[in-house]
Amino acid sequence: MAQARIVIVGGGFGGLAVARALRKTFAKVILIDRTNHHLFQPLLYQVATSVLTPSQIGTPIRGILRKQKNATVILGEVTGVDKDRKCVFVSTADRDNVPISYDYLVLATGATHSYFGHNEFEKFAPGLKSLADAEAARSKILQAFELAEAEEDPHLHQNLLTFILVGAGPTGVEMAGALAVLVRTTLKSDFRRIDPRSARIVLVDMAPRVLPPFPESLSKAAKQRLESLGVEVRLGHSVDQIDADGIVVAGERIASKTVIWTAGVAPSPAGKWLNAETDRSGRVRIQKDLTVPGHPEIFVIGDTASFDQNGKPLPGVAQVAMQQGRFAAKVIHSRIRGKRPPDSFSYFDKGNMAVVGKGFAVLQSGKVHVSGFGAWLAWVGIHLQFLATSSLRLSVFLQWVWTYFTGQRGSRLIVNHAAPEPQRQIGEETARPAFAGR
Ligand SMILES: Cc1cc2nc3c(=O)[nH]c(=O)nc-3n(C[C@H](O)[C@H](O)[C@H](O)COP(=O)(O)OP(=O)(O)OC[C@H]3O[C@@H](n4cnc5c(N)ncnc54)[C@H](O)[C@@H]3O)c2cc1C
Repeated sequence: MAQARIVIVGGGFGGLAVARALRKTFAKVILIDRTNHHLFQPLLYQVATSVLTPSQIGTPIRGILRKQKNATVILGEVTGVDKDRKCVFVSTADRDNVPISYDYLVLATGATHSYFGHNEFEKFAPGLKSLADAEAARSKILQAFELAEAEEDPHLHQNLLTFILVGAGPTGVEMAGALAVLVRTTLKSDFRRIDPRSARIVLVDMAPRVLPPFPESLSKAAKQRLESLGVEVRLGHSVDQIDADGIVVAGERIASKTVIWTAGVAPSPAGKWLNAETDRSGRVRIQKDLTVPGHPEIFVIGDTASFDQNGKPLPGVAQVAMQQGRFAAKVIHSRIRGKRPPDSFSYFDKGNMAVVGKGFAVLQSGKVHVSGFGAWLAWVGIHLQFLATSSLRLSVFLQWVWTYFTGQRGSRLIVNHAAPEPQRQIGEETARPAFAGR
């Protein structure tokens, strides 16, 4: 019997779960990703705020699957799907649109930022989705302190030391809390002309409360905690303008050179590749067995899929992607073995959690709603458990213990310095805009 070819596009939470669950299946598994690493996105904000290094949350996919002999990893960007010829098109560093054929296809290509129709904001308010984004955010934040220290005019310090996060969902809240701890502890003694503790951290959202997916009592606890850390929380107004000088919200301009977008997400273009029905946000509508209508050989899972359960769409979280990945693998495995596949996917919601600064988290699991140190310990345990390898678990655990007790962080390197402009002269006004435009 010829081996079936299973092509998985995306080595994130969903795609990797499919590949791993197919380890005992008599099939050729080909996993294609445009990056060479699996990224633990829930901890991206810790790279952006210097707690962890990029290599502590990104693991080479090839390394993860090294013992799985039926799996081949290809570094390449999928650009389209031909459903009739049953192939995907892959562009690599030296070749464009090479067809790779499949018997089964799993699209797990995740999501990207959405600026809600204001793509012009992106230039001034980069988002947080990849390691490159997190490193750029970290460099921008640390550079703001360097520029302020070098700036002789104290009136300009406040603009440089105002950090704005747009979006008070889990990423915005976690990032604001971590930033507050960074400025009030780690950096507090490192500068002579400026006091990092005077930095202003502003979290804005049009929603009436922070962490909208959580129960109201936990949103309240998170907001109180943020405020006790010195974060300004501005709710109930959307941002009207973002430019090189800051933002305009509810008619008020807040001057800042560091704005980070932690709001909406948009799915990958999988729906366009398949010419399939999508929901309003562009996620592919899939059937109960996670396949695309009319194509039992094509599965779409995770952030790029739209699946309703109990009348509501499932959220874009790692657990959904992983559970769907394991389910898709089960269906494929059963079909290859000639057995009856499971009928319909059902998501088991284990709950939500978010960290707010040092030693404090909010946790909702079923009817359990807790906040504080105990919730933070649970957060630590769960996040360590889901890191891709045991060496990462150990390294991240040690870093967290070290940071908790000493306030010192894993990586405070600025790695994206602008090349010095040869003609720039001391005192020339060109010095500041060079930062603003980055
Ligand atoms: C900052 C941040 C914090 C988060 N925090 C949490 C959290 O605390 N808890 C939680 O449950 N969820 C969290 N999430 C959401 C969670 O990370 C996603 O729901 C999850 O990653 C979705 O898994 P996925 O497999 O669908 O996509 P991803 O994990 O995003 O994987 C998609 C993969 O596809 C690859 N890819 C995309 N397009 C192509 C292409 N054209 N060709 C080849 N490869 C491609 C990408 O490189 C990537 O590796 C967070 C997300 C972000 C961005």
